[in-house]
Amino acid sequence: QARKRFGQNFLNDQGIIRRIVRAVSPLENQRVLEIGPGQGAITESILASGCQLDVIELDRDLIPILEGKFGGETNFRIHQGDALKFDFTALAAGDKLRVVGNLPYNISTPLIFHLLTAHNCIADMHFMLQKEVVDRLAAQPGSKTYGRLGIMAQYFCEVESLFDVPPEAFTPRPKVQSAIVRLTPYETPPCPANNVETLQTVLRSAFNQRRKTLRNTLKAVIDSEAIESLGIDSGLRPEQLGLADYVAIANAVDSNSE
Ligand code: SAM
Repeated sequence: QARKRFGQNFLNDQGIIRRIVRAVSPLENQRVLEIGPGQGAITESILASGCQLDVIELDRDLIPILEGKFGGETNFRIHQGDALKFDFTALAAGDKLRVVGNLPYNISTPLIFHLLTAHNCIADMHFMLQKEVVDRLAAQPGSKTYGRLGIMAQYFCEVESLFDVPPEAFTPRPKVQSAIVRLTPYETPPCPANNVETLQTVLRSAFNQRRKTLRNTLKAVIDSEAIESLGIDSGLRPEQLGLADYVAIANAVDSNSE
């Protein structure tokens, strides 16, 4: 019986499962972490590659099912707990992790923000998400879905939207379309900010009221003359600025407060 509060929608379509595992293509001895393995729909094929697989599952009732299916494998380890509180850096212990998951949709945005803080120890991430969230991750300036999530993801990672998955691929069926996304953290961000926290503050403030001009939404963080002196029109709306503009604003905020 699937539990709604844990965001459980189990994959039942073998074709989709094969496409996901092919997109990941885990190799022998690579470190892989699966978030929310559920009853093991994708776990089995990932494990068959001979990689070292850790899984983290919140629902205690699923642990014996996973133990029963895969407990005998030497390359398999289960962690019962909340992925939102999980220390990915400690798990990686110097290796880079490949992260995979058909994520619980109710926590996908905070979970991605949490994973981005561990970008240094992640080789890549493949996630099944609500299609709308994949659109936000990959969004470019000017689009309706462009905002803080996409800008922060693109600050740290190359973002590739891979393919769509219809509701019929799951039991029970979700109400929304889903899609697979690949996030590959850069060795060093191509457009580095002096302080990522400041960039977050600027974005939170800017997109708090997306219909207003920057001059208004950023009033509390930076004044309009300082924005203009960066060559950025303070009469623009937040969705019209690219990542490099936001980094320039964040760096100006930092240098003004020194
Ligand atoms: N991977 C399975 C599949 O494709 O059939 C299950 C996917 S289901 C959408 C999401 C899974 O994440 C569920 O098994 C759920 O119990 C688990 N889960 C929910 N919240 C979690 C959390 N905070 N940390 C870890 N796992 C969680």
